[in-house]
Amino acid sequence: MLVSAKEMLTKAKEGKYAVGQFNINNLEWTKAILLTAQEQNSPVILGVSEGAGKYMCGFKTVAAMVSAMVDSLGITVPVALHLDHGSYEGAKACIEAGFSSIMFDGSHYPIEENVAKTKELVAICDSKGLSLEAEVGAIGGEEDGVVGGGEVADPKECKMIADLGVTMLAAGIGNIHGVYPENWAGLRFDTLDAIQQLTGKMPLVLHGGTGIPADMIKKAISLGVSKINVNTECQLAFAAATRQYIEAGKDRQGKGFDPRKLLAPGFEAIKETVKEKMELFGSVNKA
Ligand SMILES: [Zn+2]
Repeated sequence: MLVSAKEMLTKAKEGKYAVGQFNINNLEWTKAILLTAQEQNSPVILGVSEGAGKYMCGFKTVAAMVSAMVDSLGITVPVALHLDHGSYEGAKACIEAGFSSIMFDGSHYPIEENVAKTKELVAICDSKGLSLEAEVGAIGGEEDGVVGGGEVADPKECKMIADLGVTMLAAGIGNIHGVYPENWAGLRFDTLDAIQQLTGKMPLVLHGGTGIPADMIKKAISLGVSKINVNTECQLAFAAATRQYIEAGKDRQGKGFDPRKLLAPGFEAIKETVKEKMELFGSVNKA
């Protein structure tokens, strides 16, 4: 059964660790992440962007696949199925499709409109027992064609959104989606600290978790980050392992072309990446 992310993130904030959100793209991705969470006895959040949802034949297909897989694999750790960077329409579609957690990203709207739309979704999610993530201020990099400029959120705006009763809050603290540029200035811990001071117990979300050095991740967790999103890193690991298999000519040996063999090294690489992240975030044995 899928659960809301509320309880796992409340516990994470209290226990000073973070739960990983790992984005899924297909069956192999989903299976690799679920099995690793179970092996590590860790709660987990499966992230689905609107683009990935479309790729997987729509949110209903995703919800049905994930629910069935949790059941078939005998997964007993808490699993939340979460819309990543949802539009207002996308959020409503995922609520309808059976997701257990929603992110409404209204960060590109003027703050008044972000507040109004977030408020409406808080009421809907509350009535259905779903968790809701809201976002303040653009985060840099690219996600499904949405480009931001490495912006830093205004802590007062963060408080305005947090006070609406959202479950968790994403705020720009100098983080960037995708691969970080060489001249990246690092996370803005002054901003993160100011946001936590104003938002108190609210679990904070760090997007763009790929390539942030381990010491910065640990410091961010100590300053109130309870959910960290990882996407690109699994993609890079999958691509590298698949490349190695093909460059070694293994697809031409015996039945090495069988997709179940061809995709296996990438599958194992995702598992290894997810395991490393769960260890770094401190969520192992917190299920
Ligand atoms: Zn993000």
